[in-house]
Amino acid sequence: MTKAPELYSADVAIIGGGIVGTAVLYELSQYRLRLALIEKNAEVGWGATKANSGIVHGGFHDDPNTWKGKLCIRGNQKFPELAKKLDVGFRQNGILMVAFSEEDLPVLEQHLERGKLNQVPGIRIISREEALALEPNLSEDVIAALYAPEGGIVNPFEMAIAFSEVAQANGAALFTDTTVIGLEDESDRIRIVTDKGVIYARYVINAAGLYADEVARFVGDTSFTITPRKGEEYLMDKRVGDLVHRTIFPTPSPKSKGILVIPTAEGNLMIGPTALELPDKEALDTTASGFEEIVTSVRRIVPRINSRDIITSFVGLRAASDRGDFILEPSSKTPRLIHAAGIESPGLTAAPAIAEVLTELLVEAGLELEENPEAVDSRRPFPRFHAMDNEERAKLIASDPSFGHIICRCETITEGEIVEAIKRGARTVDGIKFRTRAGMGRCQGGFCQPLVIAILARELGVDPTEITKRGPGSEILLEPVRKGLASDDNVSSQKEELV
Ligand SMILES: Cc1cc2nc3c(=O)[nH]c(=O)nc-3n(C[C@H](O)[C@H](O)[C@H](O)COP(=O)(O)OP(=O)(O)OC[C@H]3O[C@@H](n4cnc5c(N)ncnc54)[C@H](O)[C@@H]3O)c2cc1C
Repeated sequence: MTKAPELYSADVAIIGGGIVGTAVLYELSQYRLRLALIEKNAEVGWGATKANSGIVHGGFHDDPNTWKGKLCIRGNQKFPELAKKLDVGFRQNGILMVAFSEEDLPVLEQHLERGKLNQVPGIRIISREEALALEPNLSEDVIAALYAPEGGIVNPFEMAIAFSEVAQANGAALFTDTTVIGLEDESDRIRIVTDKGVIYARYVINAAGLYADEVARFVGDTSFTITPRKGEEYLMDKRVGDLVHRTIFPTPSPKSKGILVIPTAEGNLMIGPTALELPDKEALDTTASGFEEIVTSVRRIVPRINSRDIITSFVGLRAASDRGDFILEPSSKTPRLIHAAGIESPGLTAAPAIAEVLTELLVEAGLELEENPEAVDSRRPFPRFHAMDNEERAKLIASDPSFGHIICRCETITEGEIVEAIKRGARTVDGIKFRTRAGMGRCQGGFCQPLVIAILARELGVDPTEITKRGPGSEILLEPVRKGLASDDNVSSQKEELV
């Protein structure tokens, strides 16, 4: 829940509500600590965390002597249990890295070796025949593949939301719509200056993603810089969601893991990403050249992919540091500020393990940890109408008839789920979208957006013109165009009754 941090004191404050910030908030919320998370967006998970490939990587890409290598597989192994506790979309669908030429074979061998050093379970090279038996829609030109059966796919922003929900249930304070604009080391604590007020904390975690270098500079720390590496991704209709079942990688380049074919946890297919270094930390536009590059590359791997099945596209910016690895260490300027910077891929996979390392670093810096036996580590399950059988649906509708009103036809999302998302903290149209999937289907909100606005306005007790897409400045309705537009009456007349 958003609060105004006029003056707040915490044992640990975390700057940045991405997967890393929320994972460490969740981890720390198991102890008796006063915690604060500060996020400049209206909700958590709207940085790189909402715009990535959603892959729980197999642990064979990175050198075992790097944080990336060590923490990728440690994170990967935590996902099955964590996803269950947090009630988030996750599937251990396996990963194939495919070879098309004799020159690719040593690359497979090299990654097999790395995977073995990183202790990746079940990793092996498979023949062309076995690869095609596993994935019949792969190109006939494939000659072999590296197979990591414990690679997975997850809904990344849902995970960040779930981490923060559990941490809040344990008493952590969440300050959204709040930007950190300065830090002052007062020797026994850090004064955090935000655009909404001041927060004091004994320790601060810098998990500010693309802006982690700027946060470091607030205390005069210039030890690293972050350069965005842009990645375009294209999401395809669920209709073609089972063209492949495993995540398919080409052999990689030194800059990127390549352009992939990725099943999503929700049953879509995604293709991408590109990898383009550029100075602009807000360059979120997709391009014709990116589209061409992606479609050409993936059609070489899965020829049946057709660009007409693309329903939307987005851009994610990797926070690449000049050190080439995750930076997990106290600032050289003050031991009270601990960096979680340069968290590019596989940062999503590694996040639960990064949270453990950050906790260890806090203890080394002097934080005392006392377990809180009353703390919860699981999220109250979210009612998901589309995933229920008819008996479960009938029971849910009997308990609350608003679950009988379909609001998003593409994804079968009900009014009851939207109200539940609002009760759990959603305040914006995107907040609803990322918590429920309303607006994520084929029509991309064309039908349900006015209804979502009306429900938000009704539940929050505000005028529909105050409802934003993603926080202040992104208001959707400038003024009521005609009586009833986006009003609750409109919800009643347009929603599809199931009862
Ligand atoms: C295209 C692409 C594909 C990827 N694919 C994968 C993948 O498949 N698997 C995988 O493991 N990893 C993947 N990654 C990497 C992964 O997405 C990132 O490593 C991870 O999301 C980083 O999380 P984070 O919390 O460090 O950063 P972010 O999610 O960016 O969070 C940082 C937060 O800090 C906030 N912030 C910044 N400055 C301030 C401030 N001054 N005050 C308050 N808040 C502030 C931002 O608003 C943001 O929400 C991919 C990345 C990209 C871009």
